[in-house]
Amino acid sequence: MRDAERDSGVSSLVVEWVRAGSALVFTGAGMSAASGIATFRGPSGLWTRFKPVYFDEFMANEEARLRHWEYKLETWTSFRDARPNNGHLALAELDRLGWVELLVTQNIDGLHLTAGHSPDKVVELHGTNAWVECVACGARTRPDPVFEEFRLSRRAPLCSCGGFLKPATVSFGQAMPAGPLSKAAQAAQQCRLVLAVGSTLEVTPAASIPLLAKTSGAFYAIVNQGPTAHDHLADLRLDGDASQILKAVLAELLRSTKKP
Ligand code: NAD
Repeated sequence: MRDAERDSGVSSLVVEWVRAGSALVFTGAGMSAASGIATFRGPSGLWTRFKPVYFDEFMANEEARLRHWEYKLETWTSFRDARPNNGHLALAELDRLGWVELLVTQNIDGLHLTAGHSPDKVVELHGTNAWVECVACGARTRPDPVFEEFRLSRRAPLCSCGGFLKPATVSFGQAMPAGPLSKAAQAAQQCRLVLAVGSTLEVTPAASIPLLAKTSGAFYAIVNQGPTAHDHLADLRLDGDASQILKAVLAELLRSTKKP
């Protein structure tokens, strides 16, 4: 996308945002690419190197639990050390100013919260790497000591209740908690503008949230590097780096709503 094309796309998005009053924002892995966290899909995506462990395998055998913990250990420091980029910071500022109705994310990196987004306005559909959770009793603990224990023992960590510990993310084949999904769906049915950022929009049921907003009558804008599964449904499409585009959107929105 050329600069002039991008600037005109940013202006059109801001016009729609001001018209709508606030937006439902939906984010995916591309949102955090500028923070140094790899996406799953695409040529250098994580799935080219790791075979995902399904939830029923994790529950059924120790070898699968070890494989899951090995993969989580390898990626843990990049999640722990990642910092919010200009895109996360722009969205947190837009939230502070009242322009974000709800932020629904597929990401498990917790960076929207670290950036300062209000916790009650963030729905982490796929859970978070910021906690480790017992699959039996639900108790949560901070990850660092658990990873350290696993690094030394190479045995799948257990809770004091005897249940299996697992990073608090939703695995393939694991039911998504109903509460977050229904909160997101409710906002989708009511919003006037939905903005999807940095997602292929291929993972369901998560991608059904912006789709529900569109079919309920919202204006649908997509910011992504590369094609998405919803391009044919978008009212506005901006191709490029999410952090740069969101920073530009914030600046333009502040300019256009400034009192004379
Ligand atoms: P995806 O990996 O399917 O797609 C990411 C999209 O972002 C791709 O189209 C890619 O081209 C685009 N992209 C890459 N860099 C970008 C940038 N700088 N600006 C804008 N777009 C950019 O991601 P997804 O659709 O979110 O699905 C992947 C699943 O994996 C999610 O369900 C999520 O739970 C998980 N995931 C999370 C993280 C994270 O927490 N940061 C990282 C990887 C995967």
